Amino acid sequence: LAAASRWLSDQLPLMIEQLVGWVEICSGSHRLDGLVEMANALEDSFTDLPAAFARHDLPVWETIDGQGNPHHCGTGPALTWTCRPTARARVLLGIHYDTVYDHPPQGRPAARWLSDNRLSGPGAADAKGGLVALLWTLRACERFALAPDLGWTVVLTPDEELGSPASHGLWTELAERHRWGLLFEPALPDGTLVAARKGSGNFSIVVRGRSSHVGRHPEAGRNAIYQAARMVTELERLHQPATGLIVNVARIEGGSPVNVVPDLAVIRLNVRIQAADQADALLQRLQELVRQANATEGFQASLHGGITAPPKPSDSRAQQLQRIVEQAAGDLGRTIQWRDTGGVCDGNRLAAAGLTNVDTMGPCGDGLHSPAEWVELDSLWRSAELAAATLHRLHASLGDGGVTGAIQ
Ligand SMILES: [Zn+2]
Repeated sequence: LAAASRWLSDQLPLMIEQLVGWVEICSGSHRLDGLVEMANALEDSFTDLPAAFARHDLPVWETIDGQGNPHHCGTGPALTWTCRPTARARVLLGIHYDTVYDHPPQGRPAARWLSDNRLSGPGAADAKGGLVALLWTLRACERFALAPDLGWTVVLTPDEELGSPASHGLWTELAERHRWGLLFEPALPDGTLVAARKGSGNFSIVVRGRSSHVGRHPEAGRNAIYQAARMVTELERLHQPATGLIVNVARIEGGSPVNVVPDLAVIRLNVRIQAADQADALLQRLQELVRQANATEGFQASLHGGITAPPKPSDSRAQQLQRIVEQAAGDLGRTIQWRDTGGVCDGNRLAAAGLTNVDTMGPCGDGLHSPAEWVELDSLWRSAELAAATLHRLHASLGDGGVTGAIQ
């Protein structure tokens, strides 16, 4: 392990070069060309791993456009590499390659140096830095035989920042075939890792009324914005932060010229839940709101969306894996802190599918999902070092029925 650590720290210049190259590829979640370009670059870079490669086309999914109509969206491919598939214990390592922000206008570089040790750019930390850390974790593991009897699968996905609408099924399928999961979302700026996460869901409510001329036939109109506003007032009542339930109405679309009664409003909201049992009650309440609107003469309403990331509790199985990460950190003379967060990631979906995972094995950074995002560059090798030490510990625990038996 000490030799692997030294080797990883020596590789930092190569890691930085690789990160800058990947940040320069514009793989915003809605940029199909950029996603494919990024997938091709990843395929080239991961090709030296001793693993079987597969490229997976993902299904299209439906969104509701600003006119309240269904619209089909596509994304880039998912990539997997599988090593030692018949090993009796297997680890799933994954991260996404899409970013929230697109690139600056043509011609300007996306990667900006803030200092010798800080790089800014779309996805610098979330999660192109994580992609670098993941690749070098496995290079170190295989080069120094840190976990020779452990099987592993790498999965890289194009749609996490949208809530994984296309890769959801693949994650669930992979969850069933592995014993542990490590995801390379960024660690918090001070190196703290995330333990529990809230759940999250996005909804659209389409409200249709009837348009009419305000001067000539005001009585014939059914104002969709008034109806939507009544619903929004009810939605605000559902917002109860004290119980961990967050309801955020983020946008209202629709409307008409001012002398026409508007016949369309689309309400967009995000919800966060603390516990899985809050989902059913919330969903019932939303459906009831829509039923009430439909019972009002002249109006039609429909509800779209759902909870796409169930809450990820820090339960006893999760805590056992957290202890192993702590032991791995101890092997490196480091300590680990944990914190809970309201943010969600594919770790939520893996946990819901039954796969115990730690999801912040990536480098440290901040300003995520904003143009100011940055990554601490020396944490690239430090996060790879911790993940490699964790695989080494997991491998060692194979002979210790107590730990693996309990986690399995
Ligand atoms: Zn991310």
